[in-house]
Amino acid sequence: GSRFQVVEQGPPIEVFQLNKAFTEDSYKNKVNLSVGAYRDENGKPWVLPVVRKMEKQMAEDESLLHEYLPVLGLDAFTEASVSMLLGKDNPAIAEGRAFGVQTLSGTGGLRVGAELLNKHLKYDTFYYSNPTWENHHLVFVNSGFTNPRTYRYWDEKTLSIDFDGLIEDLKNAPENSVILLHACAHNPTGIDPCHEQWEKIADVMEERKLFPFFDSAYQGFASGDLDRDAWAVRYFVKRGFELVCAQSYAKNFGLYNERVGNLTVVLSESSHVAPLKSQLTWIVRGMYSNPPAHGARVVAQVLRNDVLFDLWRDHIKFMSSRVMQMREALRAELIKLGTPGNWDHIVKQIGLFSYTGLSRRQSEHLIQEHHIYLLRTGRINICGLNPGNVQYVARAINDAITK
Ligand code: PMP
Repeated sequence: GSRFQVVEQGPPIEVFQLNKAFTEDSYKNKVNLSVGAYRDENGKPWVLPVVRKMEKQMAEDESLLHEYLPVLGLDAFTEASVSMLLGKDNPAIAEGRAFGVQTLSGTGGLRVGAELLNKHLKYDTFYYSNPTWENHHLVFVNSGFTNPRTYRYWDEKTLSIDFDGLIEDLKNAPENSVILLHACAHNPTGIDPCHEQWEKIADVMEERKLFPFFDSAYQGFASGDLDRDAWAVRYFVKRGFELVCAQSYAKNFGLYNERVGNLTVVLSESSHVAPLKSQLTWIVRGMYSNPPAHGARVVAQVLRNDVLFDLWRDHIKFMSSRVMQMREALRAELIKLGTPGNWDHIVKQIGLFSYTGLSRRQSEHLIQEHHIYLLRTGRINICGLNPGNVQYVARAINDAITK
């Protein structure tokens, strides 16, 4: 017999399972609203033109070698990433107390940041929003955090943020708890705190001595404006917090499979940078030794060149406004059909997703009866909608609700 017979089948990953079911479905009007990736007007993946342009140039560039990158990544990339997040005139950069580590996309940034906090600061309690991106729990637990907790976030009745619940839960968090905060475009709800709410969150976190860990997977993609989407992180830095932030270029550069990310670290004093970088080097060394170069080179070249940067900014404006148009279109169709309920939340939510408020049963109905694939929590990827299918989807939602 095999020594591996003790290994039991694990559960499927819902989002990838749905994606596969969609691909295998032969129904002509099938719609994929599951995986969080951008789709164009024809439902097709979109390689950003500025990325194609860079890749063509790079293919011809014989000075580019396949030598190992440094363990902490490409300096040009990490520096540009820190600037993009904090704003290039941020005093934390001028004072030499902010730096970046190149990571395996956003997930890798979360993983490396969590291990740093657990191993070197001995933090063991982390809080994530209820609900949150389904991978947060696993990443932190695998990094050594033994005490996972949640803070309230979503109010089912009002289809908006449960702010009182959130504040109460943070007030009850033990000192040095790590609080995972979505920098913008909260996944899955699409609802972010407003500026005054962020200020209150910062007040409580300061008072209770909690540690902010930002997850920034959608900068620029949410509002179409890079600075606006970084407001919360910059506000916490201005308030004097030490913090870390995992940044992903999967969505805003469409570089999903290239695993391009950065962990920004902001400290109160520059003298701590060197020891932290050396310990982060050992963390990465033992995990995957050093990061891949291709995507980081693409991003670094675009971020460091004014003309290319503007071109990229146009791309993210284009993508985010298409998402907003589709929100409007879906709401308009539901209103036209007289579908019971208030659909304002669809246009109030931002980013890729809408937390529709559809129940598990209704979501299943959409999958089984209408070949429309969405998470069972009722989360839909708005980019899966286009002028050619939004009416079909609205009719199906109407059917799921009224039947
Ligand atoms: N955080 C959130 C909230 C996300 O939605 C995602 C992407 N689904 C990620 C992190 C990380 O994604 P990636 O590792 O592909 O950058």
